Amino acid sequence: MTGIDPRRTVPRTDALLRSPLFVEAARRLGRVVVKAAVTDAQHRARSGEIAPDDVAATAAAALEARERSLTTLRPLLNATGVVLHTNLGRAPLSPAAVAAMRTASGYVDVEYDVDIGARSSRGRGTVAALRERVPTAEAGLVLNNGAAALVLATTALGAGREVIVSRGEMVEIGDGFRLPDLIASTGARLREVGTTNRTSLPDYAEAIGPDTGLILKVHPSNFRIEGFTGAASIADLAMLARERGLPLVVDTGSGLLAADPLLPDEPDATSALAAGAAIVTCSGDKLLGGPQAGLVLGGAALVERLRRHPLARALRVDKTTLAALEATLRGGPTVTDHYLHADPAALRARAESLAAALPGHLRARVVPSEGVIGGGGAPGVTLPGWAITLPEGYAAALRRAAPPVIARVESRRCLIDLRCIPPESDNDLAEAICGVAGPD
Ligand SMILES: *Cc1c(COP(=O)(O)O)cnc(C)c1O
Repeated sequence: MTGIDPRRTVPRTDALLRSPLFVEAARRLGRVVVKAAVTDAQHRARSGEIAPDDVAATAAAALEARERSLTTLRPLLNATGVVLHTNLGRAPLSPAAVAAMRTASGYVDVEYDVDIGARSSRGRGTVAALRERVPTAEAGLVLNNGAAALVLATTALGAGREVIVSRGEMVEIGDGFRLPDLIASTGARLREVGTTNRTSLPDYAEAIGPDTGLILKVHPSNFRIEGFTGAASIADLAMLARERGLPLVVDTGSGLLAADPLLPDEPDATSALAAGAAIVTCSGDKLLGGPQAGLVLGGAALVERLRRHPLARALRVDKTTLAALEATLRGGPTVTDHYLHADPAALRARAESLAAALPGHLRARVVPSEGVIGGGGAPGVTLPGWAITLPEGYAAALRRAAPPVIARVESRRCLIDLRCIPPESDNDLAEAICGVAGPD
């Protein structure tokens, strides 16, 4: 202490607020917020907590921190090995998709033709990108999510009429939401055919009547029935639908656009349309690896009918989603692709370096770990990978680390699976674990 009363040397509020730094901050954050930060820093100087000379810098740092964290959502490390974890936001966006969202965040020509100076069709670039990736689709439409795509298709084609669907495809998609309830909410009547394990083409054929609006085939994406099973193929159903003049709507769920040898049981949009589906619906943030969205793909006339339905307006997506989806479609392998196809040897090497960097008292061991696709996709498929094991109690402690690390608990061990950790975050992960573990 110098003996000078610090209150005398604390910079005055009006002087601080006039400085260019705080004028600029007030433009972005509002004067009330800036003034509160300045007052707070002045208080801390008066109480001797900081030097009077540091008031401006302290207030500026507080404002910067506030600007960085205007959302309560916290980035975290997904060490579960579940690639599309619905609770963790499903697909992580690629840098190209993030950049596209930023581009689209201001004024953009989302629904405007700059050349002629008039309205144009919304999201046309995104639909063009979809058609390039799914050559069998004549037209496409982007909606809020997969459920919205299914709701619009059943409302536009089946409201007040019957929707024929197999009993083996009455899926609950999660958090208590069931597709049959969703379909019933559109005013369509469900006409269930077949049994849980087997539904044949004649089951569908016998159910068709004057009230039938459409035939629906849903991919039971999040469960698998084994044993004595049977289902009508898309091609057979398409033939039946065509004969009876009905649309066949196929909800493929996962958003795989073309066949992937890693996922032989997952239907893809290109093949489903080639096999004769009139409309395919799916999600944008599952295997497609993009933002939350629902895709409708199919023949030009039917897609146009859906696009013109009043409900379409209530289910449409914003410009940033259109931008992120277009960038995802045009941008090559997605983050989801990288995690799905991660090289087990590379995962093992990273797990070994991580284990070596941890304090010895943790006894971290490198073990094989089976990742899964998640997000209600490919339930039978496991992805061979590697993890390190920690004592079980670490799972809870690591959730409170900065950044939070979400681990998997298996056989009373805490598993840190590296599949869905970006390699550039390996150091952050090691630091988070060391922070919880304390020194050796
Ligand atoms: C995931 C899924 C849905 C729902 O899609 P959201 O994008 O989560 O709304 C619908 N049908 C099937 C078959 C699904 O797998």
